[in-house]
Parts: sequence; structure tokens; C-alpha cells
Amino acid sequence: MVHYTLQITAHMENVKTLEPMGGCDDPNSLFYFKLKCDNCLEVTPKEVCISLDELVPIPNSRDHANLFEKCKTCEEEGYIKMVPGEGRPLTGEDSEEERYAPLMCFDCHGWVPLELSFLGPQWRVESVSGTVYENVDLSQGEWAEFDEKGNCPVAIANLRSRFVLEPKAEELKDPYLASSTVDKVAVKSLPVVGS
Ligand SMILES: [Zn+2]
Repeated sequence: MVHYTLQITAHMENVKTLEPMGGCDDPNSLFYFKLKCDNCLEVTPKEVCISLDELVPIPNSRDHANLFEKCKTCEEEGYIKMVPGEGRPLTGEDSEEERYAPLMCFDCHGWVPLELSFLGPQWRVESVSGTVYENVDLSQGEWAEFDEKGNCPVAIANLRSRFVLEPKAEELKDPYLASSTVDKVAVKSLPVVGS
């Protein structure tokens, strides 16, 4: 299993939360991104579209995936399964601390996900005063409104995304790899096995 977590962040002004319209696990949410073939490293010219709602059979198995795609260059076949239940909204606090929020997890076989495109008016924004904006279009990477209730501007800018390869379970048991702030000096001073 190769798990990639899609994470997003943005500069947000007077925004409490940003999330897909029906929440992170909305079956109708469409994710558009390019793929890199694990075999020949070729990148698909266009974004693929994937959603929880869409299930396709995996050939020669009884299993299903949310996307099945054959590489046009090397003809290797691969598939992607979405793993719901791992996401949460991006909050104003995340934005202040320049933290990414996880949206969705993808179990990838034969493909590496790249470059999410924020296509479609499918975002829900809640301002700090509680005003809810629906079907927000973030395809330009920014958005702004004036919140009458809170008497303040609400804005999103510099929207970014990344796919993060999840560490394997055995790596998490290693205290040096489990820590996100690994002390480089400590790592260097470790005895090198086999030399
Ligand atoms: Zn290929």
C-alpha cells in the first residue's frame, strides 16, 4: 500500500474554515490532478478526475478502485483507491501557523499523484462571524467577499496543495524517523551499520 495524503494550505483572512462543499468525505467532491507513471515516469498530459462516488472494477480481480488508468507510454496499468475518514477542514489557525490540513488519502498502485487543480465551484467557506459561503470557486487560487454580519472582509489567497507520501508503519517505530524535527547532528553520530 502506498498512501499519499492530499494536503492544502492558504493565506486566510477572517476565515474560520475552508473545506469541500459536503465535507472532506463528500462522495460528489471531484479531485483533479496529474499522474506520474511509477514505471516509466511519464506524466499524464491532462488532469484525471477522481471522486468517491465513481467506482470502477480492477481487471482480473473482484476488487474496485476509484480510478483505473493505463499508461499511454509504457502501457503499464495502475489504479487509485480513495481512503476517506482522514481529512479535516483547513482552519484560520492552520493558516496563521502556515500549517497544511489533510483533505483526502489516496492508496496508489502504479501511479504517483501530482499537482492538484482547484477546478470547480465546490468549496465551502465559513467566516469567523459564522457566515457560510457555498459553491466557492477557488480555481484562481484566491477569493474575496465582504462579510456583512461580521462587518469585515473575508479572503483566501495563495492557495497551495501537496501530496505527502505517508511513512510506513515500521518507519514510525523508529524514533529518529518518527520525529519531524530530526536533529541532523544526532543522525550523523549514529553508528553506520555494516561499515
Ligand atoms: Zn508508463
